[in-house]
Amino acid sequence: MIGVIANKDEHSTVVEFFELFKTPWEFWRPGTQYDVLLCSNSTVPENDARLLLLYGSQRQAFEKYPSLKTSCAPGHNFALFRNERIPIYGNCLLLEGLQNEVLVHKGTSSIAPDAQLVVRLGFDLFEEVYYLLTKGQPAELANVPTLELHISLLRELIVSHGVTLVEIPPVPAGHRFIVSLTHDVDHPRIRQHLCDHTMFGFLYRSLIGSVIDFCRGRRSLQQVVTNWKAAFSLPLVFAGIVKDFWNQVDRYLELERDLAATFFVIPTKGDAGVDFHGRMSPKRASHYALSDIADDLKNLLSANREIAVHGIDAWRDSAKGRDERKHVQEITGTAETGVRMHWLYFDSQAPATLEKAGFSYDSTVGYNETIGYRAGTTQVFKHAEVDHLLELPLHIMDTALFYPSYMNLPNDQARAAMLPLIENVTRFGGVLTINWHDRSLGPERLWDDTYLALLGDLRARTPWFATGLQTVSWFRKRRAASFVRTTEDDGRVRVRTATDPTAADVPPLTLRVYNTASSGHKFCGKGNALFENITIDGSDEVLVAA
Ligand SMILES: [Zn+2]
Repeated sequence: MIGVIANKDEHSTVVEFFELFKTPWEFWRPGTQYDVLLCSNSTVPENDARLLLLYGSQRQAFEKYPSLKTSCAPGHNFALFRNERIPIYGNCLLLEGLQNEVLVHKGTSSIAPDAQLVVRLGFDLFEEVYYLLTKGQPAELANVPTLELHISLLRELIVSHGVTLVEIPPVPAGHRFIVSLTHDVDHPRIRQHLCDHTMFGFLYRSLIGSVIDFCRGRRSLQQVVTNWKAAFSLPLVFAGIVKDFWNQVDRYLELERDLAATFFVIPTKGDAGVDFHGRMSPKRASHYALSDIADDLKNLLSANREIAVHGIDAWRDSAKGRDERKHVQEITGTAETGVRMHWLYFDSQAPATLEKAGFSYDSTVGYNETIGYRAGTTQVFKHAEVDHLLELPLHIMDTALFYPSYMNLPNDQARAAMLPLIENVTRFGGVLTINWHDRSLGPERLWDDTYLALLGDLRARTPWFATGLQTVSWFRKRRAASFVRTTEDDGRVRVRTATDPTAADVPPLTLRVYNTASSGHKFCGKGNALFENITIDGSDEVLVAA
């Protein structure tokens, strides 16, 4: 078990960190025996832990004994560990002579017993975690799953020292990770845009933009022909004679077939809402009412797709949020509803506001301009200010990949840009959340080939494809599991899982034990460490050495 000493104001972050690194831990209690003692910028008490981890960007007593030369550095450095670069956003303590690395000095200390290994890490772990979960990473470092790297580093330090470690990894039993396919429904019909800026934008991009893209080698001739045909068919679409080519619901159902997916729909027509400065942008208002797409919604529900709220003002006004939620719940009839804000409007108050409005989860934390990890994580997490609402982070959005003002990638490069994110989620577990907009499969975008290739890349790794609600429900089940020391104090812990009826349709949890001598289960190698996986379902109570 890990004992943790941290300042009082860091305690809520410590608690959340150990929901993401789900392993037995507690705040340090005097006189208790711990395998690992983790001190965050605090004086080290007398202890006999086998491994002592000293985090902190301030000089500590430890540095005096081996006379380590250090210098303080303001934020934006990298901690280096086994060729991995972990961005550090707060202050750092650089250890001189180690190529100015923030990490990691290993040694014994005058303050510790001989057998103890001390690892000195020159940054504030919980300040870093707080920064990631609140402020988030700048777009330049979006590609780094920083929070997962912090967890991985801590795990490596413990396991490589031979200490037994028990963990419930963010991996549903029988799979390596979760995929949450989502679709924001912004423009379900071009028919609703007669002579507005959206229609003229479409005409320009299909008739002229396509040709420019063809000349640059970014579009095939076939695509140009498709877009021109669509543009010239527009009068017939408006007349209701030919099918509206922006309505791609059937195509999504066909491509995704047996896979789960979530569609975020805008609850009210013509409401632009207001932005961070109280201003209104008329372009943000939707041109459809839920009654206009009633047939689509019926089809989606009968195909077991989730329908959630694509919110307008819910992020800043809980009364409006409640109305938005109720509008959509009238159609879905579900008890729990998720939300993602249109244009990803969000601020530090938004989690509390959305919780007050009665939402079960939010999926807004992501980037408009790039793909990656704003909160540095592949995991569903909880914001500090809320009790129930969970955050399903958004990782990949089609518009970020293709828009000229954003990443501006051609098809094949867009596919390649997504592969590292698939590799990361395969390595760390967690969820990969993807948003492909409703009209993106049709003219003039024609981003269907890239989406098909992405689905192929994902299917090949057999993840669990889950709706937003199912994903969140699985993480809730993991959060509800607890570790309790046995009263015999024999170093074993009891793993308790809660029986939650709403989590009935999600896969079981996996218990992973590193450096254990017990047998009867299959051992797997991950890096150099050996571990054993045990599947636990809702009714199990397992005793493990820890
Ligand atoms: Zn939107």
